[in-house]
Amino acid sequence: MINYKDLGLVNTKEMFKKAMEGGYAIPAFNFNNMEQLQAIVKAAVETKSPVILQVSKGARQYANQTLLRYMAEGAVAYAKELGCKNPEIVLHLDHGDSFETCKSCIDMGFSSVMIDGSHLPYEENVALTKKVVDYAHQFDVTVEGELGVLAGVEDEVSSDHHTYTDPAEVVDFVTKTGCDSLAISIGTSHGAFKFTPEQCHVDPATGRLVPPPLAFDVLDGVMKELPGFPIVLHGSSSVPQEEVEIINANGGALKAAIGIPEEELRKAAKSSVCKINIDSDSRLAMTAAIRKVFAEKPAEFDPRKYLGPARDNMEKLYKEKIINVLGSNDKLED
Ligand SMILES: [Zn+2]
Repeated sequence: MINYKDLGLVNTKEMFKKAMEGGYAIPAFNFNNMEQLQAIVKAAVETKSPVILQVSKGARQYANQTLLRYMAEGAVAYAKELGCKNPEIVLHLDHGDSFETCKSCIDMGFSSVMIDGSHLPYEENVALTKKVVDYAHQFDVTVEGELGVLAGVEDEVSSDHHTYTDPAEVVDFVTKTGCDSLAISIGTSHGAFKFTPEQCHVDPATGRLVPPPLAFDVLDGVMKELPGFPIVLHGSSSVPQEEVEIINANGGALKAAIGIPEEELRKAAKSSVCKINIDSDSRLAMTAAIRKVFAEKPAEFDPRKYLGPARDNMEKLYKEKIINVLGSNDKLED
């Protein structure tokens, strides 16, 4: 049993309390490799932002869960080396699928876990989430539950349609489970293809597709039922069209990749939404930079020569999210 506190990590409790009071949201960035982690830590340190490092089931399979845990421990040391005296870094399990997965993460030093029972019948979701909370809280580990189903595909998590969260259920769910935050479904979705072109309209100024708005009435309903309770938005990449265009101009084939407009996420970050999950945008930033190097310098074969620019491009993206979307910059103590 390794306690996250011994690794210099923190849970989400204080972080969300301050985000709620300050009207901003904490970035939750997924990572599964060194360049991503370096970019996240550098961006968080340089903008003085707290940050949540997320590990999905797919990432654990790809990179090895033990290695990822040591990388998160290394992230704290790296942040300090970069000059950040009091880094606030959470190591969070994204979409925990069972009690056993959550327990094994808690036992190996995670400071926060999500148990995703959103696909289960309501009472089973309650029972599973409560079981995880009862275990996690013994070690001061925070737990994110989920009500409602997001559309889209992310690693093993997929659904072909949305089911918005029912605000009438949230008080009962939070009371019965004791969870610390709640992921809800208001129209965000997983992946880089969040909407079909048929669901969108064309912006006459830019010629780009504009997706339908998020269901802020559902968020308002949840906030009315649970005032001051931390809410989480999954699937909140904006799918920057510049990156999609670079990918497609350099041999890629991403058709109609559409994300959530940043204006909508900015609005959400000012509300009870305390955690915003962004994964696909980082994948796009990495892929765009690598494709560009491969197209422009076909003789290049030193991985540092294409992973380096990929890392720089991700860092730029993370900073832009922190400063222009989440508003979590300048929140760390010196
Ligand atoms: Zn998710």
